[in-house]
Amino acid sequence: MRNLKNDISNGLFQRSLQVAPGGVHSPVRAFKSVGGSPLFFERGEGAYLFSVEGQRFIDFCQSFGPNILGHRDPDVEKVLRETVELGWCFGACEPYSLELAEFIHLHLPWVERIRFVCSGTEAVMSALRVARAATNRTAILKFDGCYHGHADSMLVKAGSGLAGRASSDSAGVPDFVAAHTFVCPLDDDEALERIFKTSGKEIAAVIIEPMPANYGLLLQRPEFVQNVFDLAHANGALVILDEVISGFRVAFGGMAERLGVTPDLVTYGKILGGGLAVGAYAGRADLLNLVAPAGSVYQAGTLSANPLAMRTGLATLRKLRGDGIYDLLEERTNRFVLQLKEVLSPAGFDAINLGSVFWIHPKAKKPVRNLTDLAANLNVQYAKLFHQLLEKGVYLAPSGYEVGFVSLAHSDAVLEDALEKIKEAVSEIV
Ligand SMILES: *Cc1c(COP(=O)(O)O)cnc(C)c1O
Repeated sequence: MRNLKNDISNGLFQRSLQVAPGGVHSPVRAFKSVGGSPLFFERGEGAYLFSVEGQRFIDFCQSFGPNILGHRDPDVEKVLRETVELGWCFGACEPYSLELAEFIHLHLPWVERIRFVCSGTEAVMSALRVARAATNRTAILKFDGCYHGHADSMLVKAGSGLAGRASSDSAGVPDFVAAHTFVCPLDDDEALERIFKTSGKEIAAVIIEPMPANYGLLLQRPEFVQNVFDLAHANGALVILDEVISGFRVAFGGMAERLGVTPDLVTYGKILGGGLAVGAYAGRADLLNLVAPAGSVYQAGTLSANPLAMRTGLATLRKLRGDGIYDLLEERTNRFVLQLKEVLSPAGFDAINLGSVFWIHPKAKKPVRNLTDLAANLNVQYAKLFHQLLEKGVYLAPSGYEVGFVSLAHSDAVLEDALEKIKEAVSEIV
């Protein structure tokens, strides 16, 4: 077989520890969930990542979602190179963000207005501010098992008691901030109804990942999402769909399109920038027009809508509008996951997918829809599989709570090769 080489990576990580907290600039990258020292990659190409040791890996992490076309898509690369020659940061009006905004506005009816920012976190933080301004209310309702980036009010966990008041889930987030967020379990209509009954008139907005994909893939019943809309609107609260991961991924219009629902506000990121730093919040014109300079909700950004990111994003989205792209991605992933389930079964794992998002998880007796359904030792089991797959040249996200992504660059041949390698890996861990 092969032997994983990581001597250069290990040296780089030791140096990183001297300059960055935990050696990384985003926690999961440190491999803490799976153990060991992280690999360093120097190059990406299509479905592959190449380590600094020169070994090739089939990449199912794809930068945690942005690379729906794979690494270095030639059409996107061409636009990127052309744009470099125009300069890449003006801090002034330019036509490129206009073109991207018009393109999204044209194709997504719920995007009446849009504001570009630089990350999903920033998009969420801003959407919450708009919701509070619009409703003149303070509280936000979120779901346990949904991730919305690292704005203070979102770094909370379910508190004790049935009322749903949250407590802080990160040092540095004061309890008085957490106290303005309510937390409800996913897939629990009763708990949702109870929170609205006791506190509905305090809630400015409900924020939900319509396809929760940051604590595994916790696919919701469409009726539950509909109930969120119904209860929120009946109580004068807004609905914010956080489509940072699902937007432009499971359909061009994300889960809003798949479910046929119309969010008041929506957040995007990841694919939107085609691999560069872009987020956006969007939605009803009356809500977005509350934002400065049209209105009195302040939000600004030195690097917002920089030409390089705007044109990379537009090139990516244009390609995704091509004929049958989403059907192709979905059919390919459906076939892949069907075989993956079989291949993983002897190791006690199962796999599910929605469109080109898939999740490998320990076998469960019923569909995994909320945090209490999750296996307690999930990462212990996952770590073994993860490391054995690295040996075979397959790179999954370094945590069992992260989902996998199939990109357009994952051809049938690449996926067959991956299945062979996964089969070998499984045979060595059972
Ligand atoms: C990734 C993600 C975020 C955070 O986006 P960043 O760009 O990492 O700040 C927010 N919400 C969801 C649903 C995400 O998947």
